[in-house]
Formats: sequence, C-alpha cells, structure tokens
Amino acid sequence: MAYVITRLCQRVGACVDVCPSDSIHFVDDNPEWPTYYIDPDTCIECGACEAECPQEAIFHEDEVPEEYKDDIQKNIDYYQSGPGKDQV
Ligand code: SF4
Repeated sequence: MAYVITRLCQRVGACVDVCPSDSIHFVDDNPEWPTYYIDPDTCIECGACEAECPQEAIFHEDEVPEEYKDDIQKNIDYYQSGPGKDQV
C-alpha cells in the first residue's frame, strides 16, 4: 500500500519537498510520463504529500477515486519499467 499521484497532478512539486522518504520522482518533457510519481516500495504512508498538494491530486491507494484507479498501476509501472527504474 502507498499513496498515489493521479493524473490531476500539475507538477507543482510541493510534494517532493515534504516527502521524508524521497519517494516522489519525475522526468522532464516526457509526454509518456507527464506527472510526478510515488514509489510504492519506499512510501511510508505518512500522508504529508497529500496534505501539501494544492491540486488535491494525491490519494491513499485505498481512496483513489474510481475514474483515476488506472493511475495506481501507472505509478507502479514508472518504477518497474519506466524512467523510475533508474532513479531508485
Ligand atoms: Fe512521501 Fe509520505 Fe507521500 Fe509516501 S505518503 S510519498 S512517504 S510524503
């Protein structure tokens, strides 16, 4: 279980600064990976990012709205087969 950044993310970046486990990553100018992502293996579920996000784009995995549920797997894929596999 982890927190998940959904497609509502506008890349403000406030979440990155408050994450105590350095679990939030992104890549520049890559349309395939347009938002920030949370590493589900290192997130300690503190909730700091959710509270900080002005877009309200971050949810606990159990509370992701139905229309954004695909973003749970997108966050996982970022670290397993996307740019994140080289960032951790
Ligand atoms: Fe980082 Fe806490 Fe957000 Fe997990 S819930 S990504 S540990 S700020």
